[in-house]
Amino acid sequence: MATTLPILTPDLQAPPPAPDQARKAGRLIDSHGRCIQDVRLSITDRCNFRCIYCMEPGDRFLPKMELLSLDEYIRLVGILLELGIRTLRITGGEPTLYPDLDALINHVGQLDLDDIAMTTNGSNLDLRRLEQWRSAGLRRMTFSLDTLREERMKSITRSTSTVQDVLGAIRLAREAGYPRPKVNAVIIRGINDDEIVDFAKLARNEDLDIRFIEFMPLDSGRAWNRDHVVDANEMLLNIEQQFTLKAENGDNPHSTSMNWTFADGSPGRIGMIAPVSRPFCGACNRLRITAEGRIRPCLFSHEEWDIRSLLRSGSTNKAIANAIVDMAWTKQAGHGIGHSDFVQPERTMSAIGG
Ligand code: SAM
Ligand code: SF4
Repeated sequence: MATTLPILTPDLQAPPPAPDQARKAGRLIDSHGRCIQDVRLSITDRCNFRCIYCMEPGDRFLPKMELLSLDEYIRLVGILLELGIRTLRITGGEPTLYPDLDALINHVGQLDLDDIAMTTNGSNLDLRRLEQWRSAGLRRMTFSLDTLREERMKSITRSTSTVQDVLGAIRLAREAGYPRPKVNAVIIRGINDDEIVDFAKLARNEDLDIRFIEFMPLDSGRAWNRDHVVDANEMLLNIEQQFTLKAENGDNPHSTSMNWTFADGSPGRIGMIAPVSRPFCGACNRLRITAEGRIRPCLFSHEEWDIRSLLRSGSTNKAIANAIVDMAWTKQAGHGIGHSDFVQPERTMSAIGG
C-alpha cells in the first residue's frame, strides 16, 4: 500500500519590497522607524505540557520535515547577526525537547551577541546540561510557573510536572551560575489570581525576578476574553497591600516588562508584562521566527513570511537577508488588542514562540 507523505505547507507570498534605503542600510528597520535587534527563535512546536492558556490536549504537531534543521537555524542566525541582531531568545514549544539544542547553543554561544536567553517550563533540566549551556554562552534562563499549589499545577499545565520540580530546576540554574532567574507567571482571573501575593513572597524569599503576565488572546482553546484578564494595575495594587514597591528606572527601553524592587531592601524583583492594558508596541524591537521557518513581525500578526523555502531553494545569503529586510519592514504599528476590530491570530503562543 502506498504511504502518504505529509505535504509541506505551501509557500507564502513574498512581502512587498522595502524601500531602497532599508535594503542599503542592511539593517532591520520597520516602516514605523523601529530598529529590530531582538529575535525570538522557536526551535520546536512540541511540548510536554498543555497549559490551559496556551495549548489544548488534542493539538497536533507539525511533521519533522516541516521544521527547520539545525543547519538551517545556524545559517539563519548568521544572516540575522549580519542584519544587526544583538539579542536572541530561544523558545518554543518547549525548547528543551529539541534534540539538537546542545549543538545549537554551542554554535550561537560563539557569536558576537549581547545576550542569549532561553524560556522553559523547567521540566527537562539537570545541572550538567545547565552548566554545559552556561559555559557554551547561554546567559539567562526564564522559567514558567503559574502556581505554587501542586493540585493547581496539574490542572493548569495538564502535565505530571510538579511545582517542586520547577522550583528545583530554578535552584539548579542558580547553582550552574546563571544570574537571578526570571519566572513568568500568567495570571488568569478565577484560576490563579489569588496567588499574586504568594508569588511576591517567593520573589523575596528566593531572590527571584517574578514577571506577572497578562493573559493574551493566543490560546489554542480560544477561551480568552477580557473578563479573564487581570490587568497589571490590579496585580500591583494587590501586592502593594502587603509590600511597598519601588519603581525601577533606567531599564532597557525595549524591555517587555515594567519592574519594581521592594522598598524595604528585600531581595527579588517584580515585573509586569502588560500587553493588554499597557501595550509597549512603540518600543518593540522584536521579530519572531517559528519552528517551521516563518517570520512573524508581531506576536499578533496575521501576516507571516516564509523563510524556509528560501533556505531550501538555493537562495544566497544576500537574497535571504534582503527578504528578511522586506519582512521586517512590514511590522505592524501595534497589536490592537483593545480595538473593537481585533481578531485573534490563527497561531497560538506555542506555535509562535513566546
Ligand atoms: N514552553 C516554554 C515555557 O512555557 O516557558 C516556552 C514557550 S511558552 C509559549 C513562552 C511563554 O509564553 C511562557 O512563559 C508562557 O507562560 C507564555 N504564554 C503562553 N501562552 C500565553 C498566553 N495566552 N498569554 C500570556 N502568556 C502566554
Ligand atoms: Fe508548553 Fe510553554 Fe505552552 Fe505551557 S506555555 S503549553 S509549557 S509551550
